[in-house]
Order: sequence, then structure tokens, then C-alpha cells
Amino acid sequence: MKIIMLGAPGAGKGTQAKMIAEKYQIPHISTGDIFRANIKNGTQLGMEAKKYMDQGLLVPDELTVKILLDRVAQEDCKNGYVLDGFPRTIPQAEVLDKALAGLGEAIDYAINVDVPDENIVRRMSGRRACLSCGATYHVEHIPPRQEGVCDHCGQALVLRDDDKPETVQNRLKVYHEQTQPLIDFYTAKGVLRTVDGTVDMKDVFEAIVSILK
Ligand code: ADP
Ligand code: ADP
Ligand code: ZN
Repeated sequence: MKIIMLGAPGAGKGTQAKMIAEKYQIPHISTGDIFRANIKNGTQLGMEAKKYMDQGLLVPDELTVKILLDRVAQEDCKNGYVLDGFPRTIPQAEVLDKALAGLGEAIDYAINVDVPDENIVRRMSGRRACLSCGATYHVEHIPPRQEGVCDHCGQALVLRDDDKPETVQNRLKVYHEQTQPLIDFYTAKGVLRTVDGTVDMKDVFEAIVSILK
């Protein structure tokens, strides 16, 4: 099963993608996590990506597409995957579509996690991320067992630089301009499904599972 998560930054794509990955035993692939791992390790790619990420802008398609296509070509992806944060532009979606068509494959579902902008800024300022394992928490809604510490790996949790309110506003603008058109793109392909992302994360997941059945 090949699934794409769509939605504004902070809509809960990552939270849901991790639960989908666990339930259906497929890899969770987040281009944001891949970029952050590269930044942490000081790679060339990481340094290039950081320039854009810090401003709330998208990393150029040329860089992003290659990373994603390499990743989905790996052995663990042969039974499917859940993509979180890719595609984010129409050209990215077209490249993915062509690559899959070349293999006689296609995306099965594009799940649109719908959350209005008003809720987003509040959510992002409460998000805490583990840069070691990619886990995310929310100080009010989804707190870790011990404040400031990752439940999974014990590393310190941080407020991402790009989750500060000024940058979040930019990211929302970029989302509406460049990513939202993907809703029409996948609607036209007949694979778009929308879920209400404002309810409790367990209820969002239940709605997704009933779609994937
Ligand atoms: P969120 O879902 O909270 O917006 P991500 O971790 O998915 O955050 O992405 C963080 C940043 O990484 C984005 O703001 C963007 O700069 C960059 N990025 C991630 N995925 C892509 C992509 N597919 N295309 C371009 N830039 C990306
Ligand atoms: P995205 O990957 O779309 O950027 P995340 O999954 O990282 O979004 O979620 C953004 C923030 O909102 C995180 O702090 C997360 O813990 C929290 N969150 C996720 N789902 C919900 C929900 N249904 N209700 C309240 N908060 C949520
Ligand atoms: Zn962790």
C-alpha cells in the first residue's frame, strides 16, 4: 500500500504516518526527517537544505526529488510506504507519478489531514521534537512521560527553529501557494480522502483506518 499524507505544516501528518506505518508494517518516509538528519550530521545536503528550511521555504525540487526516489527504491519499500511531507509541489508529484508509472504502480491513497490555519500556530508552538529518532510530542495534547525527554530514545526534546511563530506564518503561506494544489491533483486521480484533523489523534487515526480498509 502506497500512501501520501497531505496537510498544512502541523496538521498531524507525521503523528498519523507513524501510526499507519506501525499498523500496516510499512516504512514511514519523511523528507523533513531526512533533511534534519543531514543537518545534524553536517552533510553538504544538510547545509544546503538548512538555508531554505530556516526561512520556512521549500527546499528546491531538484534536491528533494532525488532523495525521495532513492529512498523508495530501497528493499524495505517493496510492499509500500507512507510518505510524510512529500510531494509538496506539483512538479514533485508529477515526478513521483512518472517514476511509479514506469514500474506499473501508483499511489493508492492521498490522505488529506484537514486543520484550519487558526489551529496551526498554536499547535506548532507546543510541538516538541526529538531530533534523534524523529518522535514528536505536544506540550499540552501529547506530552512525553517525562518533560523534555523523548519516550523512545531518552534524548532531549527541542522546539524546532522553524516552529517559531514568525516562520510558521511563512510556512503556511508556502503551503497554500505550493502544496494545496496537490489536493486537486490527487482528487483528479481519484485517490484523495479527507479527514478532520482537529479531533483527538486517536479519532483521526480511526477515520484513516476506516478509509484504508
Ligand atoms: P512540517 O510537516 O511540520 O511542515 P517537515 O518536517 O515535513 O515539517 O518539513 C520541514 C521543512 O523541510 C519544510 O518547511 C521544508 O523546508 C523542508 N521540506 C520537507 N519536505 C520537503 C519537500 N517535499 N519539498 C521541499 N521542501 C521540503
Ligand atoms: P505535521 O507532520 O503535519 O507537521 P505533527 O504530526 O508533527 O504534524 O503534529 C504537529 C503538532 O501537533 C505536534 O506537536 C503533535 O504532537 C500535535 N498533534 C498531532 N495530532 C494532533 C491532534 N489530533 N490533536 C492535537 N495535537 C496534535
Ligand atoms: Zn527520540
